[in-house]
Amino acid sequence: SSYIEFQDVKKIYRMGEVEIPALAGVNFTIEKGEFVVIAGASGAGKSTILNILGGMDSCTSGKIYVDGNLVSDYNEKELTTYRRYDIGFVFQFYNLVQNLTVKENVELATQICKHPLDIDETIAAVGLADRKNNFPAQLSGGEQQRVAIARALAKNPKLLLCDEPTGALDYNTGKQVLKLLQDTCRERGICVIVITHNLALTAMGDKVIKVRNGLIESIEINENPMPVE
Ligand code: ADP
Ligand code: ADP
Repeated sequence: SSYIEFQDVKKIYRMGEVEIPALAGVNFTIEKGEFVVIAGASGAGKSTILNILGGMDSCTSGKIYVDGNLVSDYNEKELTTYRRYDIGFVFQFYNLVQNLTVKENVELATQICKHPLDIDETIAAVGLADRKNNFPAQLSGGEQQRVAIARALAKNPKLLLCDEPTGALDYNTGKQVLKLLQDTCRERGICVIVITHNLALTAMGDKVIKVRNGLIESIEINENPMPVE
Protein backbone atom coordinates (compact mmCIF):
# COMPACT_ATOMS: atom_id res chain seq x y z
CA SER A 1 0.00 0.00 0.00
CA SER A 2 1.01 3.64 -0.47
CA TYR A 3 2.62 5.91 2.10
CA ILE A 4 -0.35 8.29 2.03
CA GLU A 5 -3.90 7.36 0.98
CA PHE A 6 -6.99 9.55 0.73
CA GLN A 7 -10.11 7.40 0.34
CA ASP A 8 -13.35 9.21 -0.59
CA VAL A 9 -12.50 12.13 1.69
CA LYS A 10 -15.30 14.68 2.09
CA LYS A 11 -15.28 17.95 3.95
CA ILE A 12 -18.24 20.16 4.64
CA TYR A 13 -17.69 23.39 6.57
CA ARG A 14 -20.73 24.28 8.67
CA MET A 15 -21.29 27.93 9.52
CA GLY A 16 -24.57 27.99 11.45
CA GLU A 17 -27.26 26.93 8.97
CA VAL A 18 -24.98 27.27 5.99
CA GLU A 19 -23.07 24.27 4.65
CA ILE A 20 -20.03 24.89 2.47
CA PRO A 21 -18.86 21.77 0.62
CA ALA A 22 -15.08 21.97 0.30
CA LEU A 23 -14.16 18.37 -0.64
CA ALA A 24 -16.70 16.18 -2.43
CA GLY A 25 -14.97 12.76 -2.34
CA VAL A 26 -11.22 12.96 -2.89
CA ASN A 27 -9.03 9.93 -3.71
CA PHE A 28 -5.27 9.87 -4.26
CA THR A 29 -2.13 8.10 -3.12
CA ILE A 30 1.38 9.41 -2.47
CA GLU A 31 4.52 7.29 -2.22
CA LYS A 32 7.39 7.76 0.20
CA GLY A 33 9.93 10.27 -1.11
CA GLU A 34 7.59 11.77 -3.72
CA PHE A 35 7.68 15.48 -4.53
CA VAL A 36 4.01 16.32 -5.06
CA VAL A 37 2.46 19.48 -6.42
CA ILE A 38 -1.21 20.22 -5.72
CA ALA A 39 -2.59 22.71 -8.22
CA GLY A 40 -5.96 24.32 -8.92
CA ALA A 41 -7.87 27.57 -8.81
CA SER A 42 -8.55 29.54 -5.65
CA GLY A 43 -11.33 27.89 -3.63
CA ALA A 44 -10.81 24.47 -5.27
CA GLY A 45 -10.02 22.77 -1.95
CA LYS A 46 -6.20 22.61 -1.97
CA SER A 47 -5.63 24.06 1.51
CA THR A 48 -8.41 21.90 2.93
CA ILE A 49 -6.60 18.79 1.65
CA LEU A 50 -3.30 19.94 3.17
CA ASN A 51 -4.85 20.96 6.50
CA ILE A 52 -6.64 17.62 6.84
CA LEU A 53 -3.50 15.70 5.87
CA GLY A 54 -1.51 17.68 8.46
CA GLY A 55 -4.00 17.11 11.26
CA MET A 56 -4.94 20.80 11.52
CA ASP A 57 -8.51 20.06 10.49
CA SER A 58 -10.67 16.91 10.37
CA CYS A 59 -12.62 15.48 7.46
CA THR A 60 -16.40 14.97 7.50
CA SER A 61 -16.15 11.43 6.07
CA GLY A 62 -13.67 9.15 4.34
CA LYS A 63 -10.35 7.65 5.38
CA ILE A 64 -6.81 9.00 5.48
CA TYR A 65 -3.83 6.72 5.98
CA VAL A 66 -0.29 7.96 6.60
CA ASP A 67 2.51 5.42 6.98
CA GLY A 68 -0.04 2.70 7.82
CA ASN A 69 -1.85 4.81 10.45
CA LEU A 70 -5.52 5.73 10.13
CA VAL A 71 -5.02 9.45 10.80
CA SER A 72 -8.69 10.23 10.09
CA ASP A 73 -9.59 8.27 13.27
CA TYR A 74 -7.09 10.07 15.52
CA ASN A 75 -8.45 11.81 18.62
CA GLU A 76 -7.28 15.33 19.62
CA LYS A 77 -4.34 14.03 21.66
CA GLU A 78 -3.13 11.78 18.84
CA LEU A 79 -3.52 14.65 16.36
CA THR A 80 -1.42 16.95 18.55
CA THR A 81 1.37 14.37 18.71
CA TYR A 82 1.11 13.79 14.96
CA ARG A 83 1.31 17.52 14.15
CA ARG A 84 4.18 18.03 16.56
CA TYR A 85 6.42 15.11 15.57
CA ASP A 86 5.51 14.01 12.07
CA ILE A 87 4.56 17.17 10.17
CA GLY A 88 6.51 20.21 9.04
CA PHE A 89 4.48 23.17 7.74
CA VAL A 90 5.53 26.00 5.47
CA PHE A 91 3.11 28.87 4.82
CA GLN A 92 2.79 31.61 2.22
CA PHE A 93 3.72 34.43 4.62
CA TYR A 94 6.62 32.68 6.45
CA ASN A 95 5.13 33.22 9.96
CA LEU A 96 8.54 33.93 11.51
CA VAL A 97 8.86 35.47 14.97
CA GLN A 98 10.10 38.98 14.19
CA ASN A 99 12.08 39.61 17.39
CA LEU A 100 14.00 36.34 17.16
CA THR A 101 17.02 35.74 14.92
CA VAL A 102 17.08 33.13 12.16
CA LYS A 103 18.81 30.68 14.50
CA GLU A 104 16.41 31.41 17.37
CA ASN A 105 13.39 30.92 15.08
CA VAL A 106 14.66 27.48 14.09
CA GLU A 107 15.62 26.63 17.69
CA LEU A 108 12.16 27.52 18.97
CA ALA A 109 10.51 25.01 16.65
CA THR A 110 12.76 22.16 17.79
CA GLN A 111 12.18 22.65 21.51
CA ILE A 112 9.06 20.52 21.66
CA CYS A 113 10.07 17.80 19.22
CA LYS A 114 11.54 14.35 19.77
CA HIS A 115 14.44 14.01 17.35
CA PRO A 116 15.47 17.48 16.14
CA LEU A 117 18.20 17.85 13.53
CA ASP A 118 21.30 19.94 14.14
CA ILE A 119 20.19 23.57 13.92
CA ASP A 120 23.33 25.02 12.32
CA GLU A 121 23.46 22.23 9.74
CA THR A 122 19.80 22.72 8.85
CA ILE A 123 20.28 26.46 8.42
CA ALA A 124 23.35 25.80 6.24
CA ALA A 125 21.34 23.32 4.15
CA VAL A 126 18.94 26.09 3.08
CA GLY A 127 21.88 28.35 2.20
CA LEU A 128 21.69 30.77 5.13
CA ALA A 129 24.76 29.85 7.21
CA ASP A 130 26.00 33.44 7.04
CA ARG A 131 22.60 34.93 7.99
CA LYS A 132 21.78 32.96 11.11
CA ASN A 133 22.19 35.91 13.48
CA ASN A 134 20.03 38.22 11.34
CA PHE A 135 16.42 39.09 12.16
CA PRO A 136 13.64 38.30 9.65
CA ALA A 137 13.22 41.97 8.65
CA GLN A 138 16.85 41.98 7.48
CA LEU A 139 16.18 39.23 4.95
CA SER A 140 14.53 39.20 1.54
CA GLY A 141 11.26 37.35 1.01
CA GLY A 142 13.01 34.35 -0.50
CA GLU A 143 15.45 34.19 2.40
CA GLN A 144 12.63 34.39 4.95
CA GLN A 145 10.92 31.47 3.23
CA ARG A 146 14.20 29.52 3.46
CA VAL A 147 14.20 30.18 7.21
CA ALA A 148 10.63 28.87 7.39
CA ILE A 149 11.74 25.74 5.49
CA ALA A 150 14.71 25.25 7.85
CA ARG A 151 12.37 25.67 10.82
CA ALA A 152 10.04 22.99 9.46
CA LEU A 153 12.90 20.62 8.55
CA ALA A 154 14.69 20.94 11.89
CA LYS A 155 11.82 18.99 13.46
CA ASN A 156 12.90 16.06 11.26
CA PRO A 157 9.34 15.52 9.98
CA LYS A 158 8.00 12.59 7.95
CA LEU A 159 5.99 14.98 5.79
CA LEU A 160 6.72 18.53 4.72
CA LEU A 161 3.50 20.35 3.79
CA CYS A 162 3.82 23.69 2.02
CA ASP A 163 0.80 25.92 1.38
CA GLU A 164 1.61 28.39 -1.43
CA PRO A 165 5.26 28.74 -0.34
CA THR A 166 5.98 30.81 -3.46
CA GLY A 167 2.78 32.87 -3.33
CA ALA A 168 4.44 36.00 -1.97
CA LEU A 169 7.61 35.71 -4.09
CA ASP A 170 8.48 36.85 -7.59
CA TYR A 171 8.71 34.12 -10.23
CA ASN A 172 12.47 33.49 -10.11
CA THR A 173 12.72 33.59 -6.32
CA GLY A 174 9.71 31.25 -6.14
CA LYS A 175 11.36 28.87 -8.57
CA GLN A 176 14.52 28.77 -6.41
CA VAL A 177 12.45 28.06 -3.29
CA LEU A 178 10.66 25.24 -5.12
CA LYS A 179 14.02 23.88 -6.27
CA LEU A 180 15.18 23.87 -2.63
CA LEU A 181 12.06 21.93 -1.68
CA GLN A 182 12.65 19.46 -4.53
CA ASP A 183 16.32 18.98 -3.47
CA THR A 184 15.22 18.55 0.15
CA CYS A 185 12.79 15.85 -0.91
CA ARG A 186 15.49 14.00 -2.86
CA GLU A 187 18.18 14.29 -0.18
CA ARG A 188 16.04 13.40 2.83
CA GLY A 189 13.71 10.89 1.18
CA ILE A 190 10.64 12.44 2.87
CA CYS A 191 7.36 13.36 1.17
CA VAL A 192 7.19 17.02 0.26
CA ILE A 193 3.77 18.30 -0.81
CA VAL A 194 3.47 21.79 -2.23
CA ILE A 195 0.39 23.80 -3.16
CA THR A 196 0.85 26.26 -5.96
CA HIS A 197 -1.50 28.02 -8.33
CA ASN A 198 1.44 28.94 -10.52
CA LEU A 199 0.98 26.52 -13.41
CA ALA A 200 4.48 27.23 -14.73
CA LEU A 201 5.95 25.59 -11.61
CA THR A 202 3.81 22.43 -11.52
CA ALA A 203 6.11 20.66 -14.01
CA MET A 204 8.62 20.20 -11.16
CA GLY A 205 6.41 17.68 -9.34
CA ASP A 206 6.98 13.92 -9.52
CA LYS A 207 3.21 13.83 -9.21
CA VAL A 208 0.83 16.67 -10.01
CA ILE A 209 -2.63 16.49 -8.41
CA LYS A 210 -5.09 18.95 -9.95
CA VAL A 211 -8.07 19.89 -7.80
CA ARG A 212 -11.27 21.49 -9.07
CA ASN A 213 -14.50 22.23 -7.19
CA GLY A 214 -13.61 19.86 -4.34
CA LEU A 215 -12.76 16.95 -6.65
CA ILE A 216 -9.60 15.55 -8.21
CA GLU A 217 -9.55 16.71 -11.81
CA SER A 218 -6.40 14.80 -12.81
CA ILE A 219 -3.31 13.10 -11.42
CA GLU A 220 -0.21 13.18 -13.60
CA ILE A 221 3.05 11.36 -13.00
CA ASN A 222 6.17 13.07 -14.37
CA GLU A 223 8.85 10.52 -15.20
CA ASN A 224 11.27 13.41 -15.74
CA PRO A 225 10.21 16.26 -13.50
CA MET A 226 11.41 19.36 -15.26
CA PRO A 227 14.71 20.49 -13.80
CA VAL A 228 14.92 24.16 -13.07
CA GLU A 229 17.37 25.87 -15.39
P1 ADP B 1 -7.97 26.57 -2.03
O1 ADP B 1 -6.87 26.24 -1.06
O2 ADP B 1 -7.94 25.70 -3.26
O3 ADP B 1 -8.03 28.01 -2.38
P2 ADP B 1 -9.73 26.01 0.22
O4 ADP B 1 -9.43 24.61 0.60
O5 ADP B 1 -9.13 27.10 1.02
O6 ADP B 1 -9.37 26.20 -1.33
O7 ADP B 1 -11.31 26.24 0.20
C1 ADP B 1 -12.24 25.32 -0.35
C2 ADP B 1 -13.65 25.81 -0.07
O8 ADP B 1 -13.92 25.73 1.32
C3 ADP B 1 -13.87 27.27 -0.46
O9 ADP B 1 -15.22 27.40 -0.89
C4 ADP B 1 -13.68 28.00 0.85
O10 ADP B 1 -14.38 29.20 0.86
C5 ADP B 1 -14.21 27.02 1.85
N1 ADP B 1 -13.56 27.13 3.16
C6 ADP B 1 -12.23 26.94 3.41
N2 ADP B 1 -11.97 27.08 4.72
C7 ADP B 1 -13.15 27.37 5.34
C8 ADP B 1 -13.55 27.61 6.68
N3 ADP B 1 -12.67 27.60 7.68
N4 ADP B 1 -14.86 27.85 6.91
C9 ADP B 1 -15.75 27.87 5.91
N5 ADP B 1 -15.44 27.64 4.62
C10 ADP B 1 -14.17 27.38 4.32
P1 ADP C 1 14.23 41.09 -2.69
O1 ADP C 1 14.83 41.35 -4.04
O2 ADP C 1 13.96 39.63 -2.45
O3 ADP C 1 13.10 41.97 -2.30
P2 ADP C 1 15.79 42.80 -0.95
O4 ADP C 1 16.04 43.83 -1.99
O5 ADP C 1 14.82 43.06 0.13
O6 ADP C 1 15.43 41.41 -1.65
O7 ADP C 1 17.16 42.40 -0.30
C1 ADP C 1 18.31 42.09 -1.08
C2 ADP C 1 19.40 41.60 -0.15
O8 ADP C 1 19.69 42.56 0.87
C3 ADP C 1 19.01 40.32 0.56
O9 ADP C 1 20.12 39.42 0.56
C4 ADP C 1 18.67 40.76 1.96
O10 ADP C 1 19.01 39.75 2.87
C5 ADP C 1 19.56 41.97 2.16
N1 ADP C 1 18.90 42.93 3.07
C6 ADP C 1 17.72 43.58 2.86
N2 ADP C 1 17.41 44.39 3.91
C7 ADP C 1 18.41 44.23 4.82
C8 ADP C 1 18.70 44.79 6.12
N3 ADP C 1 17.88 45.66 6.70
N4 ADP C 1 19.81 44.38 6.76
C9 ADP C 1 20.63 43.48 6.19
N5 ADP C 1 20.44 42.92 4.98
C10 ADP C 1 19.35 43.30 4.29
